[in-house]
Amino acid sequence: MGKIHSIETMGLVDGPGIRVVVFFQGCKLRCAFCHNPDTWNFSGGSMEISPIELLNRVKKFKPYFKASGGGVTCSGGEPLMQPEFLLGFLKLCKENGINTALDTAGFGQGDYEEILSYTDTVILDIKHVNENGYKTLTGGDMGEFYKFLQAVNKAKCKIWIRHVMVPGITDDYEAMDDLVKIIKRLRSIEKFEILPYHTLGNTKYDKLGIQYRLKDIPPMDKEVALKFQDYVKDLLKNNP
Ligand code: SF4
Repeated sequence: MGKIHSIETMGLVDGPGIRVVVFFQGCKLRCAFCHNPDTWNFSGGSMEISPIELLNRVKKFKPYFKASGGGVTCSGGEPLMQPEFLLGFLKLCKENGINTALDTAGFGQGDYEEILSYTDTVILDIKHVNENGYKTLTGGDMGEFYKFLQAVNKAKCKIWIRHVMVPGITDDYEAMDDLVKIIKRLRSIEKFEILPYHTLGNTKYDKLGIQYRLKDIPPMDKEVALKFQDYVKDLLKNNP
């Protein structure tokens, strides 16, 4: 059985085409900018569901997938924290001709290579570009992320890279150069996006009684984030 926080239908940004996005419950990281702290706790979640039950819910949307080139995206929380359930569900999706995407920080457990062999697109969030920054921003050890990165390189799935840009933390050219170095460890990527940090999820922290660590940090200027995105794209294009 899997623990699911929620299911969103008609998603348009988390993978190609129209997607059903399944938010898994539970995450080991504690990203300072996380907008979904309600998905952290492994004992939370609104439903317990088997892979086949989840497939049956998702299958109803097959006509939309077919028309748009879409499919299902496993997001979270961190889907890799429920590797057996995730694998079972991905296998069923592939058996039923459903395109699969995995939206992840690459920080979980289980057989990453096997999971990725049933994944059409991995959407990998690079949280920070060096070990100290990663630890401070997420509480996690970057070694686990690199383990996943290696598995991605062996897999055949398409790769999308995302990076949340936080003012005063990751918005500088040195960090972008380091980000490029990490991306270049990978075989070719299909898409790169910088997501400007925003403050929309902050009220959840008050409700949950959790201290919000970035409370004094303003939202990231979208235009500036776009410039950094172009800078990274140019570096990737000109120095493949
Ligand atoms: S990996 Fe995602 S769900 Fe987990 S803390 Fe970070 S942003 Fe939140």
